[in-house]
Amino acid sequence: MNTDKLSVRLAAVAKYVPNGARLADIGSDHAYLPCYLAKNEGLPFAIAGEVAAGPFQSAKRNVLAEGLNDIISVRMGDGLEVIHEGEVDCITIAGMGGALIASILENGKEKLSSVKRLVLQPNISAISIRKWFIDNSWELIGEEILEEDGKIYEILIGEKGDPYKPYSPNQDLGLLVGPFLVQKHDETFKKKWTAEMKNWERIYEALEKAAQSPETLEKRQELIDKIKLVKGALTDEDS
Ligand code: SAM
Repeated sequence: MNTDKLSVRLAAVAKYVPNGARLADIGSDHAYLPCYLAKNEGLPFAIAGEVAAGPFQSAKRNVLAEGLNDIISVRMGDGLEVIHEGEVDCITIAGMGGALIASILENGKEKLSSVKRLVLQPNISAISIRKWFIDNSWELIGEEILEEDGKIYEILIGEKGDPYKPYSPNQDLGLLVGPFLVQKHDETFKKKWTAEMKNWERIYEALEKAAQSPETLEKRQELIDKIKLVKGALTDEDS
């Protein structure tokens, strides 16, 4: 991967950044995503935000080497604190856990007033982001699932709107697996949730053998509920 050729995962994220967006890429690491968009898609302005010194230096080096200093401002800081209010209209956050992405959004809420689109790529726990969208009146407007190097990734796109709109008729299932992804139900989706179900079944069997406590019973019930939901979705769509 470099500033001209993104990974399949980051290229998929890049696709959802609108033309002419003023972008903040949070957790930018090498700043590949904003550099690519500035070089190839005419991105007019971007902030590359990084909390860690090493990735921050590497982002700075790449932006300088590409002569993109006038377009991309590399800033060190935690989450959305690197953004001044009103500076950007699109935010990308990729390659972290869903709970961390949701906490970054939660802690920087006041910076979102000018933001029209969020493009988020959680490595795990996309449900944390879907729940944050519901609680904060962001509407999930699209989703993508893809596999690269044996790992499956989801991309969630949000805009301000009706947060409940995509979730009819089954909100619990939609929150867990993605309302657009369950509808499309492609091979990658089936592969991900078949593997997740097997994993839950293994955990369930281990819990059955463990000493029984209110916590293990509750955990077992949670697993039964999730397995039932996902199994139902996979079988419904297959039949
Ligand atoms: N976004 C790039 C990608 O998708 O390839 C880099 C992903 S890398 C695995 C995650 C990056 O997020 C790391 O460089 C880490 O330092 C940074 N990061 C983690 N928490 C952060 C936070 N609260 N604010 C800013 N950056 C953060």
